[in-house]
This record gives sequence, C-alpha cells and structure tokens, in this order.
Amino acid sequence: MSFATGLLCRECGTAYPAEARYSCEFCFGPLEVSYDFEAARGVVTRESISNGPNSIWRYGALLPDPGVEPVDLGAGWTPLRRATRLADVLGVKELWLKDDTRNPTGSFKDRVVSVALSSARRLGFSTAACASTGNLATSVAAHAAFIGWPSVTIIPSDLEKSKVAMTAIFGGTVLGVEGNYDDVNRLCVELVAEHPDWAFANVNLRPYYAEGSKTLAFEICEQLGWRTPDQVVVPVASGSQFTKVAKGFREFIQLGLVDGDAPVLFGAQATGCSPVATAFSDGAEVVTPQRPNTIARSLAIGNPADGPYVLDELRANGGDCGSVPDSEILECIGLLARTEGVFAETAGGVTIASLRQMINRGTIDPDKSIVAIISGHGLKTLDAVVETATFSSTISPSLADAEEALRFHQLVSSAS
Ligand SMILES: *Cc1c(COP(=O)(O)O)cnc(C)c1O
Ligand SMILES: [Zn+2]
Repeated sequence: MSFATGLLCRECGTAYPAEARYSCEFCFGPLEVSYDFEAARGVVTRESISNGPNSIWRYGALLPDPGVEPVDLGAGWTPLRRATRLADVLGVKELWLKDDTRNPTGSFKDRVVSVALSSARRLGFSTAACASTGNLATSVAAHAAFIGWPSVTIIPSDLEKSKVAMTAIFGGTVLGVEGNYDDVNRLCVELVAEHPDWAFANVNLRPYYAEGSKTLAFEICEQLGWRTPDQVVVPVASGSQFTKVAKGFREFIQLGLVDGDAPVLFGAQATGCSPVATAFSDGAEVVTPQRPNTIARSLAIGNPADGPYVLDELRANGGDCGSVPDSEILECIGLLARTEGVFAETAGGVTIASLRQMINRGTIDPDKSIVAIISGHGLKTLDAVVETATFSSTISPSLADAEEALRFHQLVSSAS
C-alpha cells in the first residue's frame, strides 16, 4: 500500500486528487505527489523496507502507485561502492559511487519510468510516450515492451547511434526530430494536447515520474546503514533528479528512518549546457536558457523545467554547481574507469569532473563523506571514447612482436 494522498501545487499549495494532471489550474505551477507522513510514521520502518523486493519497489509505500503489481523490470537497488582509489586521486576521505549504470537499460531513467508507467496503468492509459535526450526513450520503450504496450518516443535525430539503437530495438515507434531537446519538448507539449490518452512519462505524467528519483536518496541512506551522507553530487539536466533526491532525504528524515542531517547537494553540468551552473555563479534570479553544445547529450537540456528549484536548493543549503568542459568529461570517464572499474557514460564524466572542480575550489569538503551519482552506462556513449580507448599496439601474430610491444608498454623489463 501507498501513503500517497494526491497532488499538490509546488507554488500555491492547491491540492488535487491523484489524477493525470501536471500543472496547477490556478497558477500553472508544477504539481508534486503528496503523502500522509503522520500515518506512515512507525508503519514504514527499516524492517518493512528491508523485507521488500530488491528494486525501487521496496519503497513502494513512499511512491504513488505500487498497486498489487507495479511495472517492475528491476530498476534500482543498484550498488553503492566505496571508491578508495578515486578518493586518493581526488584527495578526499570518504567517497562513494551510486552505480546506476547497473539498471535494466543502463541508466537511472529506469527508476522514473517504472514509477510513471505504474501510475499510468492505474490511471487507465495504455500507450507510453516521452520527450527524451535518449536514455528516457530507451527506458520507456523497454518498459512498454515489458507490459505489452505500444510506445512513442521522441528524440533529437542526431543522437548517438547507440542510443537510437537501444531504443528502436524494443519495437516501439521512435521519432527523430531535426532539432534539439528543447524543440522535442515543445513538440511533445503540443502532442499531449492532441493525444491526451498517451502517457508522456515526463510531460502529463511528470509528477509521478519525478517521484522515482527519490529512491536514489532512499537507497543511499539504507546502503550506508541508515545514515545520511554529508554531501551528494547529482548531474543536472531538467533538474528533476536533483530536486527529488533532495526530497527523498527530507522524507526519510521526517519519517525518522535515518540518522543524520540532510546532506548538502551539489549539481553537475557540462559547460556546453550549463544554464543552472551559470545562474548560480552569477547570482541570477532566473535560469537563462542556453543552446546546448556538449558531448553530454543526456544532460543537454537548455531550458530546464526544474532549474529554478535546483537554484533554490543550492542557495538554501550551501551547495554549488560544477560546469565542466567536454575535454574534462572525457578525461574523467577514463579516470573513473581506471581507478574504480566503473564505465560511465558522458553524464558520469560530468559528475566526476564537477566533483573534482568543486573540491578544488573548496566548496566540497574533502574531510566529509561524499556520494557521487553515476547515472548511466558507458556503452550508451561509446562514440565519445572509441577514438581514444583503443589498442595499445597492433602487432603481427609473432612472439617477437608481442614481446617488443610489451617491453614498449613496460609490462616486461627491457633486460629480459
Ligand atoms: C536524464 C538523466 C539525468 C538527469 O536528468 P534530470 O532531467 O535532471 O532529472 C542524469 N543522468 C543521465 C544519464 C540521464 O539520462
Ligand atoms: Zn498553484
């Protein structure tokens, strides 16, 4: 069972029933799922959670629609790994990686899609859709296939080939739009009006979709032995993950499930699409949209819907937001792989490079614990590294050639 009570406007607080509605009738503010935490306190316990499934649905009581059987392809309950070698390189004491490369379709989007489609099914929808920078489309197409629904996923036509293939393989309709994500999103808002019977995960189902990201915070707490970390680095595209991770920590604290204070959250963006980082460092009131130009395609949202809420959160709690060039994103994909054996997509490179940047400028405290969210698998953006991650040497099939190459790479000493 769920303790969700309905929807609440983030701006004016108007309450709505848990229906397919995503903006406020009165002020057009975004809606958010609300819960009866009074009733949940003492009923949702460490034990009741630990007895749940090894997926995000162990937190079903704190999600909108667990129902009798949620749409569960196995999203979540991904490893939280202590990263000692990377911590040494970065000069920090306690670093953890939340390894969301390990989700069913290789990105954190499986969390939000699993929740969105569970709600969509309860609300009577039977077609899944989305506007996407790539990973969401893949996850929607996979989850729709899993429950036998048609899907319509809409992405920029110049996305990485690997992401297009990973989406198309599930058999849904994939529309490539000649434009960027912000064009795709605008088109989808128009399509929602024409096809109100389609469940667009991140448009008309957005309040439900967004709740899925809270499970990152829940899992981090539980995996740390029911304590909060001090600092968390979160990649920012639309800003939904960032704001809901913050919400997740607050909910666990409110329910008395976890020891410690709410962590300070830090954002991570690519300089080629850094509207939130720019507004933050400029001290600006509003987030000015930017035309994206970066290899971090999954984060390339120039006009982030939740940008203002990310700014509020950063300013209220002493956070900061990294802005890193493509060269550092590539370098840090390699650094993470070499030191920890984790292969991340470009968004993971953004997180690690931003972490390093904020340690260097002193906003992240090296003596306090840090969790970095690695949100997507490196196979998704293979194009970004195939030129540089390649053979050490190419040799003829002869022992002499092999030995010479190994001497060159200093694997055997020249004297032997
Ligand atoms: C979508 C995405 C994010 C964050 O997206 P938000 O829109 O900010 O919630 C982060 N990493 C990856 C790999 C993604 O696909
Ligand atoms: Zn309102």
